[in-house]
Amino acid sequence: MVIEERKECGEDLNDEIIDKITEKRLLSEVKSGIQTIQYQLITLMTCNGQTPFVTMFMYLDEVEDGQIRDDLALIIQEVMIQRMAGVKNEKGVWVTPAFPKLIYVLDEDNIHEDSKYYYLTELAAKCTAKRMVPDYISAKIMKELKQGNVYTCMGCRSFLTVEESQKNPDGSHKFYGRFNQGVVTINLVDVACSSYGDMDKFWEILDERLELCHRALRCRHERLLGTVSDVAPILWQHGALARLQKGEKIDELLYNGYSTISLGYAGLYEMCYRMLGVSHTDPMGKEFALKVMQRLNDKCAEWKAAENISYSVYGTPMESTTYKFAKALQKRFGIIKGVTDKNYITNSYHVHVTEEIDAFDKLKFESDFQKLSPGGAISYIEVPDMQQNIPAVLSVMKFIYDNIMYAELNTKSDYCEVCGYDGEINIVEDSAGKLVWECPNCGNRDQERMSVARRTCGYIGTQFWNQGRTQEIKDRVLHL
Ligand SMILES: [Zn+2]
Repeated sequence: MVIEERKECGEDLNDEIIDKITEKRLLSEVKSGIQTIQYQLITLMTCNGQTPFVTMFMYLDEVEDGQIRDDLALIIQEVMIQRMAGVKNEKGVWVTPAFPKLIYVLDEDNIHEDSKYYYLTELAAKCTAKRMVPDYISAKIMKELKQGNVYTCMGCRSFLTVEESQKNPDGSHKFYGRFNQGVVTINLVDVACSSYGDMDKFWEILDERLELCHRALRCRHERLLGTVSDVAPILWQHGALARLQKGEKIDELLYNGYSTISLGYAGLYEMCYRMLGVSHTDPMGKEFALKVMQRLNDKCAEWKAAENISYSVYGTPMESTTYKFAKALQKRFGIIKGVTDKNYITNSYHVHVTEEIDAFDKLKFESDFQKLSPGGAISYIEVPDMQQNIPAVLSVMKFIYDNIMYAELNTKSDYCEVCGYDGEINIVEDSAGKLVWECPNCGNRDQERMSVARRTCGYIGTQFWNQGRTQEIKDRVLHL
């Protein structure tokens, strides 16, 4: 185009000038392209009024070395620059967008200070400090856990399993196009409370409840059986998930490892506390917790062998279910100190939000449990405003690279529209005992006039939360 234009205008065709202009045009095109994707995604709505959950997976080695990888690096760089700027809300204030979620893969070519793409990793650290994302996948640890593969999760944390039956034409394992059939979550705290601390009873009730979850998962699966591709042509006919014929049933995609189905679990911490009186960070608690996790995996393997459906263990996000489970526990068992005395229960294998533990110990401890959550899980550390301490963010990222497959940093980036305060907005109790958000600068409590972004787990919420989740956020201790 540049050559054509210059010819038309009678300008000389100096290669150096043409290259310069071309490069400049390319950069501006990348910029517009990224902006278009960002705005299209957050202004699109699904039928229930939510932004579609899209995860952008930024993995340099997904393309071959050379020009194409450098081009990908340029796109990744622009994504992060624009994320740091934020997007304007309905009042024209620049705020943290919740979507798309960004994942940045740490690898040999970007994690060391002398790596070729280290500048991108530094940019990612700044972006995380400002906007909570990207989250991080360690290519090194993932290859150990996933038979040499590095691939994205779906949404916030749901991972497909590596299946020998699912290969691309070039012989590599297939991930793109595969999907998940749904989740049913076992409330481990309820199993512990129902056994009243009796260990034999615990294992007996656990097996019963797992069978109940199994039946519920079968309901999800059977609900999908017989679905024809026409119900969602983009998914089933045009290649998002498959290229089936019109009127063809999706049934074969539900078997043989093409899709997975998830056995979720919650409250490993409270379960341990009820059974043994200690946290799972205690060696005795850890041994028991790992044994329970192993049982969940063994059950999934048993069901998979019998039915050819790919069951896998999944650390459920439980954005609202945490409150529902906690309320149900209180109703059945009353208040048991350290077990049912909160309006939430602990997510998956996580260390309790109030437990004092430093970032590095937490990530190291949780990595043993992540191994036993092949259907997905994410670890996080809670940190203060880190924008003035990027080297510390980079230290955490290097630790993630060496120790854990998938982790994130929960930073704070709120905004008060009344006074312009830019920092952390607090949770306080109002006169009626309800938890409310309050600007520490001007005392504003109007949720309509503030922008709060918190990671409830795995993904960012900006629409405020129920009382159980709000209490959990309030109780979080800092790990750094
Ligand atoms: Zn204010």
